[in-house]
Amino acid sequence: MAEWTAVVRALDLAAELGAEEVLLLLDSKLVVEQIQGRWRVKDAKLALLHDEAIAGLRRFRRWSARHVPRSENSTADGLANEALDRVAAGGPRLVVRRPPSPGGGEPRSTQLGMDLGAGGPPGGEVGTGRERASGGAVAPGGMVALEAGFDPGDAGPDPGRLVVRILGSGTSQGIPRIACECQVCTSADPRDRRYRASALLSFGEMRVLVDCGPDIKWQAIAAGMRRLDAVLLTHDHQDAIGGLDELRRFNELRGGYLPVHAPPEDLAVIVSRYAYAFRPGQGAFFGIPQLRPIALDGPFLVGGRRFIPVPVIHVDRAITGYRTGGFAYCSDVQRIEPEGMALLADLDVLVISALRDQPHPTHQTVGEALEVIAALRPRRAYLTHLDHELGHAALAARLPAGVEVAWDGLELEVP
Ligand SMILES: [Zn+2]
Ligand SMILES: [Zn+2]
Repeated sequence: MAEWTAVVRALDLAAELGAEEVLLLLDSKLVVEQIQGRWRVKDAKLALLHDEAIAGLRRFRRWSARHVPRSENSTADGLANEALDRVAAGGPRLVVRRPPSPGGGEPRSTQLGMDLGAGGPPGGEVGTGRERASGGAVAPGGMVALEAGFDPGDAGPDPGRLVVRILGSGTSQGIPRIACECQVCTSADPRDRRYRASALLSFGEMRVLVDCGPDIKWQAIAAGMRRLDAVLLTHDHQDAIGGLDELRRFNELRGGYLPVHAPPEDLAVIVSRYAYAFRPGQGAFFGIPQLRPIALDGPFLVGGRRFIPVPVIHVDRAITGYRTGGFAYCSDVQRIEPEGMALLADLDVLVISALRDQPHPTHQTVGEALEVIAALRPRRAYLTHLDHELGHAALAARLPAGVEVAWDGLELEVP
């Protein structure tokens, strides 16, 4: 655990300092082999840190990792002892040393914008030091250089069977709407009560949330959620992210931050809207969520399970659906271009949005969703993100074989 935490923090620090290449020197052969994808990570908690380390490495143009045997590691041991002494004497927790510039001169000091220490004071102090550490720990021989572009399909523990629970199946206002007396909003059928669209993916011990709208507290209670390991967001609209503050309870339960995955453009909006929740080390677990943004740029791992972002069009831009194994979840779909359709071939279960029957400028209709389903031919499909024009029973009665209406609390097993 300590080794993996150190790798994740070191990568954050290197990115913060503007590094384009990193060389990891580790005295754990196990961690080196696991980073390089040659050995599997079996422990579920370590698997999450492993995922994060791999995501962290993708930020660099080039990276490599090398094992330094303990016996050759006296420089690192010396630095660790020095750091312990420094902190015990009231010195800064973090000291950054840079090699001197090629023309000579003093090593540059560096100010960091974030405190990387867990539970430390906000805005970590940064001191300057001597240069000797910069290359001192490099031991001879045996370097394995890997180009960036690690295939996440190659590593991680056996992810286990997938169970998907629909936490919410309603459109942006949910059903019932405030102050609406329509037939569906006043329906006695419990399936006509729809929270904002969201799903919980369970595999092994892992619990992964897809979208986190303003109903998440009651959705989590209804689902009996006691654990959360990661959040995947489809886009930055408020009905998909308006519940992020509620996740602080899961920070308490897990005793640490939660990774939040989304493409960089969406993350930028989300981080600006919830800036307080994305500041490491501030007010940890005392009423402020601790979220860690992870920018997607291709397939990625969560708890050893491979996820593929699927571009779907919504309000004239690509947002993100997610595929893992034979399951895919596509919310807020207006249409899907061939590139996205190709990633949705041969599915066991597809959950896809269908707003209503009347055309809408940013969402596909039921008819259009059925056309997509007919083209993709998943073994089963479920319609979600429904508006109050669609009553459950009436809609279910007119859907073709293999297509059903999702409802809040529906559980799907994916082979
Ligand atoms: Zn209504
Ligand atoms: Zn939306």
